[in-house]
Amino acid sequence: MNFNMELPGLKGVNIEEIIEQENRILVYVSMPLKEHSCPACGVKTLKVHDYRTRKIGHLSFWGRLTKLMYRCRRYRCTCGKRFAEKAPFVERYQRFSKEVNQAMIIQSVQSKTFKDAAMTLGTSVSTIIRRFIKQVKAALPEGFRLPKAIAIDEYKSDTDAGKYQLIIANAETHEPIDILPNRRLQTIKTYLQKYEQDVEIVVMDMNGSFKAAIHQAFAKPIIVADRFHYCRYIHWALDDVRRKVRKEMHVKLLVK
Ligand SMILES: [Zn+2]
Repeated sequence: MNFNMELPGLKGVNIEEIIEQENRILVYVSMPLKEHSCPACGVKTLKVHDYRTRKIGHLSFWGRLTKLMYRCRRYRCTCGKRFAEKAPFVERYQRFSKEVNQAMIIQSVQSKTFKDAAMTLGTSVSTIIRRFIKQVKAALPEGFRLPKAIAIDEYKSDTDAGKYQLIIANAETHEPIDILPNRRLQTIKTYLQKYEQDVEIVVMDMNGSFKAAIHQAFAKPIIVADRFHYCRYIHWALDDVRRKVRKEMHVKLLVK
């Protein structure tokens, strides 16, 4: 059966069948047969090697999570090379369609919580946080330098027990600067090696071994102070970062 309708994000894609299950919709899709250039030798081929079904998370339709059951065709070239066809809706090795990846970035910033975003898109909280961090990184300007005094705090995501992100903030203005995906020494070291040149004071409320790690992470001697001893009470939250990024994204969307 072929559907004459076009579903969002699936332009030029054959919709073979739509199956409704209890809480989700399976959309069986394929690409039209089309001459492809061999990635190895450049010769054009129409010879089909085989098909493999890929399960790809897609946007919700009619309020239900949707999976694309993509019958991915592989072509064979006279040179012996076998390769998958090009599909406009998904990148190689991805479990989610391009539309969903885009939606994840937007939801990670605009949803009330990461959990809300994860539930709306049928993915995990950690996936949403990863997209969020990527978005924050992309928003950082080139030639960026850390201020003289930075504050480091940890943020525990609400569902993945034991998973922490580190928030880097300006200790004087309390303005959030960056989020690191974890609190491993190597992650902090790599980050600081890029940006530490101006930092003299690090403010944090964390255990002794973590403080020792921070000393190690810097190439030069620095002062590590407890927030309690620092001159002003510092308050910030991940939501401050979210608000900032949301504002930037809003501006970007308006500019487009
Ligand atoms: Zn070839």
